[in-house]
Amino acid sequence: LARLRVAGCRITPARRTLLDDVLGDDAQMTAEDLIRRHPEIDEATVYRALSQFEAVGIVHHVHLGHGPATYRRAAATSVPVVCEVCGRVVDVPAAELAPLRERLAAEHAMVLEVGHFALTARCSGCRPPGDGVSR
Ligand SMILES: [Zn+2]
Ligand SMILES: [Zn+2]
Repeated sequence: LARLRVAGCRITPARRTLLDDVLGDDAQMTAEDLIRRHPEIDEATVYRALSQFEAVGIVHHVHLGHGPATYRRAAATSVPVVCEVCGRVVDVPAAELAPLRERLAAEHAMVLEVGHFALTARCSGCRPPGDGVSR
């Protein structure tokens, strides 16, 4: 809330409610989820609040799949890995991608930006048996 005030945003009851939701433990909410959950809050207010929260760095959004962006507590130190079959999401420390990051930078002059899009995967429950990956 302090960050929002510093940025000159008014803290309305609606914003406070939305903020509680998006900062909840393991919260992964799309704008649509929030709108469904709070029919009393105007749709435009939800979208505006989310972009303000993001502008001041409280939340960030990530694309977990084909659907709408998901808003989560800003913590750029992890990368969401989503099972493309069942949708389960696992957060992997960004440091684990360091070797790939270094290679891409050194050999392809591309700096990996993790966290905006999820990596896709198949969880152990969704992999066909005998695919050679230890579980
Ligand atoms: Zn995006
Ligand atoms: Zn799965």
